Amino acid sequence: MKILISACLLGEAVRYDGRDNAHKVLAWQPLIRQWQALGWLVPVCPEVLGGLPIPRSAAEIQNGDGHHVIARQTNVKTCTGSDVTSAFIAGAECTLTLAREHQADIALLAARSPSCGKHTIYDGSFSGTQVMGMGVTVALLEQQGIRCFNPEEIDTLQKVIQSRIDQSF
Ligand code: SF4
Repeated sequence: MKILISACLLGEAVRYDGRDNAHKVLAWQPLIRQWQALGWLVPVCPEVLGGLPIPRSAAEIQNGDGHHVIARQTNVKTCTGSDVTSAFIAGAECTLTLAREHQADIALLAARSPSCGKHTIYDGSFSGTQVMGMGVTVALLEQQGIRCFNPEEIDTLQKVIQSRIDQSF
């Protein structure tokens, strides 16, 4: 069993602001540490894999979501106006490569990120406004059949994992 996981959820300080997101899965840390001890977790930070530094400027998808970025129909820009679309796509592709290398077809990814967000992302105005849509990495992974879950869906992910364990007996 292999599960991709956003490195920031594991406590790695890879966020744009040099912090982590472990507090967002605080209640689930015992379960996550159990998965880690079993060797199931494959930590990834798509933005770092795409070549972006830590810390880095906050970035948001402009007028669309990750699917539009993958289709080159819109861009990812930083709050200072730099176009980081190529880095976001490269990071998504590296993450997909890692998933295939490890034969991981499920992922637990941080919410609302322009890379890792599953259901909602920020709207590109840097005003804190959320819109429906997914990040660039989630869009690519889901297009390729890798099922992604956000931290609010860990209970569902746990059920998927348990059913696979049950089927293996
Ligand atoms: Fe976390 Fe994903 Fe952002 Fe990296 S790109 S800091 S793994 S949410």
